[in-house]
Amino acid sequence: MNKLKEILTIPDNKLDRKYFLILVLVAFIFSIGVRYIWVNDFNTVEQFKWNNELMINTNDGYYWAEGARDILAGHHQENDLSPVLTPAAELTAFLAKMIPISFETLILWLPGVLGSLLVLPIMLIARLLRQDLLGFFAAMLGAIAWSYYNRTMIGYYDTDMLIIVLPTLTLWAVMYALKRDSFVAMLLAPVFAITSMYWHAGTTNVIIGTFLITFFYMIIFERKNLYYYKFLAVFVLVLTTLAIWLKLLLIVALILIFMLAKEKLTDKIVIGITIVSFMIYIIFGGFEWIIGILHNAYLTRGLVASELDVASLKCFGVVNTVREAGHIPFEIFANRISGSVFGFWLSTLGYVLLLVRYRLMLLTLPMVLLGFFALQGGLRFTVFAVPFMALGGIFLIFVIAKYIAAFFNEKSKKYAQYGVIIVFASMIIYPNIQHVQAYKVPTVFNKEEVKVLSKLGEIASREDYVVSWWDYGYPIRYYADVKTLVDGGKHSGEVNFPVAFELTNNQVAAANMARLDVEFTEKSFKEPCGAPIECMLKAYKVKNPNQFLQTLNNKNLQKPAKTRDIYFYLPNRMMNIYPTINMFSNIDLLSGKQGARPFFFMSRNFKEANNKIILSNAVSLDKKTAEVTIGSQKVKLNYFARTYYDKNGVYKADIQKIQTNQPGVSAIYMQPYHQFLIVDDKVMNSLYFRLFVLEQYDKDLFEPVILSPYAKVYKLKI
Ligand code: MN
Repeated sequence: MNKLKEILTIPDNKLDRKYFLILVLVAFIFSIGVRYIWVNDFNTVEQFKWNNELMINTNDGYYWAEGARDILAGHHQENDLSPVLTPAAELTAFLAKMIPISFETLILWLPGVLGSLLVLPIMLIARLLRQDLLGFFAAMLGAIAWSYYNRTMIGYYDTDMLIIVLPTLTLWAVMYALKRDSFVAMLLAPVFAITSMYWHAGTTNVIIGTFLITFFYMIIFERKNLYYYKFLAVFVLVLTTLAIWLKLLLIVALILIFMLAKEKLTDKIVIGITIVSFMIYIIFGGFEWIIGILHNAYLTRGLVASELDVASLKCFGVVNTVREAGHIPFEIFANRISGSVFGFWLSTLGYVLLLVRYRLMLLTLPMVLLGFFALQGGLRFTVFAVPFMALGGIFLIFVIAKYIAAFFNEKSKKYAQYGVIIVFASMIIYPNIQHVQAYKVPTVFNKEEVKVLSKLGEIASREDYVVSWWDYGYPIRYYADVKTLVDGGKHSGEVNFPVAFELTNNQVAAANMARLDVEFTEKSFKEPCGAPIECMLKAYKVKNPNQFLQTLNNKNLQKPAKTRDIYFYLPNRMMNIYPTINMFSNIDLLSGKQGARPFFFMSRNFKEANNKIILSNAVSLDKKTAEVTIGSQKVKLNYFARTYYDKNGVYKADIQKIQTNQPGVSAIYMQPYHQFLIVDDKVMNSLYFRLFVLEQYDKDLFEPVILSPYAKVYKLKI
């Protein structure tokens, strides 16, 4: 082992603090510079801009933006789900007050700037190893590594922007504390750990992992080192469920005791204090943690089943549609962590050697293992391994460079060494830059859609509801400042069901359902009655949900009093996901069985030949006979519709009746969109098709408010 350590030893290069800080700054600017590629690519695309600034490219960002907006405004509506109490919204609002740039510019750049801060803990960790240059190259790699870039790129405004920075900073602080005996050294790690857990509760696992590995590290290597006991006695308090101020108070008090009474504290007293500290954790948190695990595993299931006696409704889960988790191919996994398969192997080997050479680096294992957990648990975990795999890869390069340089004479040695380092480092950094160049993520919405929402915000009151699919929930709330039924965080099968029902059913049933959905959603905030659909069944005293859904076809259905207005936001982009939306309502709530798939076919790439419109390899339309060929089947059209804007710019739908009184399919040619649709009767009669595609709305029920080609807004009249 000692022999191996000697082989792996590279010359120290710890720089003056001044030069170290300059290198931190250079790495930081490099990280921002690479992120600027995306801005540069899209800066001239007017469709991606709003208020003269590029819009953000993650849906969830609009959630935090809504919270920050409301904090700045000083008000928000009861139960509007605005996240005014979250750290991300608080931080954004605080910065918005401090920094004289537009709110749009702030949320666009914030993830890139905060995410690039990762260079600091990476370089600080390397500095503990007296390897500033190693840290510098590792920082440039880690800060732009594939998966880390994806989640901290400019415009990716989400809690991800600090989700790696804070735990990595915590790890540095732990290692720093174990090397240096001072008040500040002992305080930093708990402070960063608490900040990290406050920022995102998901990082709690990393902090617990860090605590456990430090504990085992002590048991194995530092049993006799009292300083480790002291540090763990302090750090364990971080994990308690006490209020943050109380935690900090206890932590500071304990550090002060250790510092001031240093001479008087015998081994026994220190170990005694450590045990007391651990007991505090067991009582405030540890015990709950264990109970929580048991509770989740056994109890909740029984509880849920007995509570929902009205209806153990079986809804369609979002997990069924999101391509989640599961196994990921190795190459993707390797790319996400290191940018290339070559870089991945280099980094893996380098990381193992790094652990051998610098034993203290063992403390980084939990985060690396969590990253590797991605192979089982899904892509979102890979980022956790990034900083340390970067350190590992660059470490190996430094070792290789040392041996290659040995072949050169004294004079050229240094040049050879750094030449090798720069070449190899570029080789593993560059694939990540290529990824950045190819990763052309569009903004969430385009300018025309935002125009519609912004106008809707002027028309609708803040208490009004806007019905749309959950994908658009956060941006709708941000731009129009209204309430929504579903959003990026509220989209379980039960809450999606009525919304999907409203969008994909006939206008009468949809209108009734929308009114009930909104009124019962509001009511359930005050008197919990379950999901809105459960509240409806209880209120109408119907046991069978299918029977209840039938009654919604009655235009004169008795409903609770109207408390506010309801708008439907129907964008053209919803066409792409119409079949998915339909799955959420096309389900038997009693058995959980999916209904037969409706016929829905869309083509934006069709051509004409011999009186036929070829929509795809398998689907074509004969203009003479009005027959659709689907595979080997031929079906006569019921209707043929063409939509267009007339000379005055008014949207028109010419509908030709071909045959009726028979279930079948209809064709719609949306000329301005260059979209061809073949759909069955139910789809043709759905709210989305009648209101958005054909603009044939029931005048008793709906009133058009905004009719843009990109998105149409209708107001519910009942
Ligand atoms: Mn609001």
